Amino acid sequence: MPEAPEVQTVLSTLEDQIKDLKIEECRIRYEKLIDHESVPSFIQKVRGQHLRQFQRYGKYLIFVLDTYDWIVHLRMEGKFYLLPDFPEDKHIHAGFLLSDGRWLCYHDTRKFGRMQLYLKQEDFQSLPCFQKLGPDVLDPSLNADYLYQMLHHSNKCLKACLLDQSIVAGIGNIYADEICFACRLDPRSRSKRISKQGCVHLVYHMQRIIQGAIRYGGTTIRSYTSSLGVTGRFQLKLRVHDRKDEACSVCHSIIKKIVVAQRGTYLCPKCQKRK
Ligand SMILES: [Zn+2]
Repeated sequence: MPEAPEVQTVLSTLEDQIKDLKIEECRIRYEKLIDHESVPSFIQKVRGQHLRQFQRYGKYLIFVLDTYDWIVHLRMEGKFYLLPDFPEDKHIHAGFLLSDGRWLCYHDTRKFGRMQLYLKQEDFQSLPCFQKLGPDVLDPSLNADYLYQMLHHSNKCLKACLLDQSIVAGIGNIYADEICFACRLDPRSRSKRISKQGCVHLVYHMQRIIQGAIRYGGTTIRSYTSSLGVTGRFQLKLRVHDRKDEACSVCHSIIKKIVVAQRGTYLCPKCQKRK
C-alpha cells in the first residue's frame, strides 16, 4: 500500500513528465474504477482538460485540471505508467491519450483503486471525499495539542491511531512502525496513556520520517514500486520495519515481528516501552 512518500514520488515524477499537457482522449475498461458518475460522463468531462497542478492529501493524488479536480486513490496496487500506446493488458483499466502522443495508463492488479472528478475548488481540502480525513501528516497546522486530543479520545492502541486516516492522513504500516521505533514507544501502547511530551515527539518524528522518505523517493519493499521505473531507496534507511530477527541499531536486541491492529508489526522489545 503506497503511503504519503510513495504517492508524493509518483506525483513529482508525473509532474516532471506531463505538466500542462492536454488530455486528448480517455478510455476506461473497468467501470467501477470511476466513483460517483457514469463512465461516459467522466470521459466527456476529462477530455480537453490540461494537467495543471499535482497535489497530494494523505494517500490521495489530486490532479488539478482546468475546471475539475481529478482525485485518485491507488489503494493496494494502483500504478501509473506513461506508454507509447494503450496496450491490451487485463491489468490496465484506464488510458489517457496526452497531447505529446503518450498514454497515461492506470494499472491495478487488485482493482481496488478509485478515481473521481469534482468541479475545481479553491481549496481541495473542502472536497466531499476528504471530509473524514484528518490533517495531512506534513500539514504545518498538525501539532502535539491536536494529536494529544485525538489520542485521548480513542480506545485504540497507538499503532491503530497512527494508521487511522481520520486522525492523521498519509501514514501506513511501514512508517507507523518506524515512527513508534523513533519515539521508543511500543505500538501496542494505549493511546490514552501517551503524554503530551510523547505527542510532541510523535509529531516531530512522523514529519521527519515522512519528509526523509520523500527525499529518498519512497520505499520499494513489498510489491509497491513507484511509477515509471523510479525506485525508492528509503528501504536502506528503515530501522525496524521488515527487519525481523536482525539486531536493533540502538541496543542490538533482536527485532520482533508481531501482529498489531491486524497488521504485521516490527519492534525492538527493549527500546520500545509499552505505555
Ligand atoms: Zn533496541
